[in-house]
Amino acid sequence: IDSFAGRRVWVTGHRGMLGSAMVRSLEREEAQLLLTSRADLDLTDQAAVFAWMDENRPELVFHIGAKVGGIHANATLPADFLRENLLIQSNVIVGAHRTGVRKLLFVASNCTYPSQAPQPIAETALLTGPLDANIRAYAVSKIAGIELCSAYRRQYGCDFLSIIPPNLYGPGDNYHPQHSHVVAGILRRTHEAKARGASEMLVWGDGTPRRELLHVDDLADAMKCLMRSPTVHDLYNVGPGHDLQISEIASLIQEVVGFTGTIRYDTAKPNGTMRKLLDSSRIRELGWKPRIDERSGLQSAYQDFLALLENPNA
Ligand code: GDP
Repeated sequence: IDSFAGRRVWVTGHRGMLGSAMVRSLEREEAQLLLTSRADLDLTDQAAVFAWMDENRPELVFHIGAKVGGIHANATLPADFLRENLLIQSNVIVGAHRTGVRKLLFVASNCTYPSQAPQPIAETALLTGPLDANIRAYAVSKIAGIELCSAYRRQYGCDFLSIIPPNLYGPGDNYHPQHSHVVAGILRRTHEAKARGASEMLVWGDGTPRRELLHVDDLADAMKCLMRSPTVHDLYNVGPGHDLQISEIASLIQEVVGFTGTIRYDTAKPNGTMRKLLDSSRIRELGWKPRIDERSGLQSAYQDFLALLENPNA
């Protein structure tokens, strides 16, 4: 496709951090957005999803809606993560085939790669080794989604493809004390430590794992780029190509928040995978590159967190 203007585009999960970034971005392109909130449409309900798609006939689908959470949420709620994501993605992907969706992009996760994969991790590393046990259930659901998209491509010629982002952050993040991802979790605890005048704050793990961070607005750009480009591969990694140690992420956040105390490590919490830097050369070949560096991205994420504290219902 050459432009999104006037096209019927379904963004699932539009209330979440990535979904809302996608919506902001597509509004600028004057797409005709089809949005469904959980109250109108339960994505785990196949009959309801099929009926909604028959009625609304999306032409393009960004399938973002999923049950997501950080390392702790995944370790404690594995059955919920596996069940809900298997249901949601098969309803949306099978429904897209049924109603003749022109192109669908499925968002998977960097935890789908084996925990010992060679770095940087190329797309071909998928299914070459064991997964980190903390996030295995979620990872298996996402691997099934990737395979479902490519199976529909192979068997029925559907233009369905998947992407693997690194750790995401940005406006609209989930700041839940236990269930958030690394950036939101550290942002919140650093802010709270500063607010109570504490002399130290806790970071999970020992600080030595590395994570590649991407601002959601950069990912939304990449997803539009892939939707516009002819599909060459079933799977694309979408990362900036460099990672930071958790201790460096914590120091950056400490500076952004203006917390002057010390960082302590809570080694009773899991480190998870030590490193998962993506090899994103496939999407680089399409001309995409991120525009937001970590420092300015974290600054805007902190502003968003502060705005949420001021006005929790916004
Ligand atoms: P992952 O990349 O799938 O493992 O997910 P996360 O975004 O939850 O990142 C987990 C990594 O960040 C682990 O190495 C954690 O030990 C470390 N970490 C440090 N502080 C936090 C925190 O407050 N929340 C989370 N989720 N992870 C943290």
